[in-house]
Amino acid sequence: MTIPGQLNPSPRLLLGPGPSDAHPRVLSVMTTPLLGHLDPQFIEIMSETQEMLRQVFQTKNALTFPVSATGTAGMETCLVNLLEPGDKAVVGTIGYFGNRMVDIAGRTGADVTVLERPWGQVFEPDMIRDAVKRVKPKVLALVHAETSTGAMQPLEEIGAICRETGTLLVADCVTSLGCIPVKPDEWGIDAAFSCSQKGLSCPPGMAPVTFSERAVAALKARKTKVQSWYLDLTTIMGYWGGDRAYHHTAPITMVYAIREGLRLVLEEGLEARYARHVRNHLALKAGLTALGLAYTADPNHQLPQLNAVRLPDGVDDAAGRKRLLTEFGIEVGGGLGDLKGKAWRIGIMGQNSRPGCVYQVLTAVEQVLKGFGVKVEPGAGVGAAERAYSAA
Ligand SMILES: *Cc1c(COP(=O)(O)O)cnc(C)c1O
Repeated sequence: MTIPGQLNPSPRLLLGPGPSDAHPRVLSVMTTPLLGHLDPQFIEIMSETQEMLRQVFQTKNALTFPVSATGTAGMETCLVNLLEPGDKAVVGTIGYFGNRMVDIAGRTGADVTVLERPWGQVFEPDMIRDAVKRVKPKVLALVHAETSTGAMQPLEEIGAICRETGTLLVADCVTSLGCIPVKPDEWGIDAAFSCSQKGLSCPPGMAPVTFSERAVAALKARKTKVQSWYLDLTTIMGYWGGDRAYHHTAPITMVYAIREGLRLVLEEGLEARYARHVRNHLALKAGLTALGLAYTADPNHQLPQLNAVRLPDGVDDAAGRKRLLTEFGIEVGGGLGDLKGKAWRIGIMGQNSRPGCVYQVLTAVEQVLKGFGVKVEPGAGVGAAERAYSAA
């Protein structure tokens, strides 16, 4: 065979549901020479990373670290460590990722009750209270930021509901961490997981998790071994916890990356970062709305970082996204599940939540819509965004 040429992909602006672009400072630390995974210098880097992760998660939980794999491994870590065969679990689904938790929870041998809401909607606390009181599950799992619809599930009141029945609350914060407030201690979340490639502006490959003392107690009280060897916290704790005993080889470069991503979050400040995500969302939303695109999620529960909009009649999903990619170098996401072929998902997460990205995507989307014969006032989207910025 001929050897493929040196890597040289065309530049892209990643404005889909993830991965989002990595910050240049993150990419730059990834060329730092490797250390051994038990080197005292690396152990110091691990401790620093864990401490910063606690700050970004706004938690005091000792068991807080990045799992060596993508967000789904964070999901799996939380569910397989807290559920044993025969345990009861309630999983709420408001879109695609809730269904993934149903599947993973079921594979542990737990008895899973599924609660559903139509795509784009969220659960009211009373719906959750009724189910938790009826089932009295060991675990309730919910998606905080449902990336398939752009809906934000409020979690503030759910922890207190779980306390009434001794239920552990597991939250999918894959698309929320680093973009909107995530407060496990204040809200009573017992196990939360996220990823590196969305709000933290790193490449995919790490899944931050945090476990409360209640969750750790449940883990210690298990009667059976955790079904996954790799994700078994009872042994991983030995590496990321006290004695730094070998478990698996940490992906050194990814730990450098997430350490830098977390430094960026803390340098900016959590509140300033959340406010930036809202400001850029309001401008993008003004622009998309002016282009005639309607949001798919309940407007009272819209995520700033993930904007899912319905395509107008006559716009071909795949052809439109192909044009955005090849002519404008912009990646946006297509619809999943019920919204397949019917919606685009525009992510402005982490460092991509900025005016330059908002204006670029609005300009490109306007051109593509025009190409399909949709009538839009020239510059309508960009103009509306500009007015939203100056009103903010
Ligand atoms: C992206 C995502 C996941 C999966 O994360 P991966 O890094 O792709 O494994 C899980 N849940 C939600 C809500 C997500 O957006």
